[in-house]
Amino acid sequence: MVRKSFHYFHPVLLIPVLLLLSVTVISSCGTDSDHYSPVTEKGIPETTEQKAFAIALHGGAGVISKDIDPETRDGYLNALDHALRIGYELLDAGGTSLDAVEAVVRYLEDDERFNAGKGAVFTSEERHELDASIMDGRDLNAGAVAGIRTVKNPITMARKIMEESRHVLLSGDGAENFASLMDLERVDNSYFNTERRREQLHRAQERASAGNSGTVGVAALDRHGNLAAGTSTGGMTNKMPGRIGDSPLIGAGTYADNNSCAVSATGHGEKFIRNAVAYQICAIMEYTGVSLQEAAEQVIFGKLDEGDGGIIAVDRYGRIAMVFSSPGMFRGAADSEGRFEVAIW
Ligand code: ASP
Repeated sequence: MVRKSFHYFHPVLLIPVLLLLSVTVISSCGTDSDHYSPVTEKGIPETTEQKAFAIALHGGAGVISKDIDPETRDGYLNALDHALRIGYELLDAGGTSLDAVEAVVRYLEDDERFNAGKGAVFTSEERHELDASIMDGRDLNAGAVAGIRTVKNPITMARKIMEESRHVLLSGDGAENFASLMDLERVDNSYFNTERRREQLHRAQERASAGNSGTVGVAALDRHGNLAAGTSTGGMTNKMPGRIGDSPLIGAGTYADNNSCAVSATGHGEKFIRNAVAYQICAIMEYTGVSLQEAAEQVIFGKLDEGDGGIIAVDRYGRIAMVFSSPGMFRGAADSEGRFEVAIW
């Protein structure tokens, strides 16, 4: 009779198996974050291919009707495609993730389709107050501005605060003064006006509600292994003057840490603040070793309510997650392995 070989197991064979198991357990329990080692839910190290660079962007999440006319839809897709290409080319040429984040966000701020820079939504008093933030995953340096009224590109202001001041977040008159000191391009508040946003405001006022969609954000990994993220927004339509959302708050709307990932969020800001969404995703990755996708799903589907919004994120290996619970999220993803895609629903 032929005995099937897998039924035969000599005890000596247990030695290498036990050794392997102990190495796995030690590496997944290690506390040294420099030696972060991703493990799956079952504690098995993931096979992760390192990508040279990667970038993900969003142009806001919300109720985006599938019935929009094809011309409008294509306009959005082309804008996302163009923005993604700017970031892709910069990273491909060896540029830094910070430069890519700033350049792509600036491009989207200048496009009035999006609720950031030109095209920002109106406050209940029919003015504009813009929020933005940027973070460097190398050293957790960060800069942010809240409620700025006259800076054409708030993301550049956020970067100036990060690099040229001792602070992380500036608001109000102090922020306006700092913008003058830094010689940033200024505009009259009416520069941000668009008819579309004015109509949106009037509709929201009739319903006594506040809406959102069109915030922009970018997360990127560069060829030097550094992560960065940035977010820029006009906030919520019909918001109270002085209201600050999640976008300029490090840990809520934006976070980047080379030990885990870079995240930019979009959606109902108050919910993202309460749940420290961007930081929480990075922390879940770092502390539990699950993948970026898994960490993002745990937060977006487990901590927030359906329809609250979503995130785009890139981890230290160049893996991208784009997770949202709203009907749509304008988004794009590209990496050094040839991925290049934009989508809405
Ligand atoms: N999160 C932004 C805010 O609450 C809005 C958005 O992402 O659409 O200000």
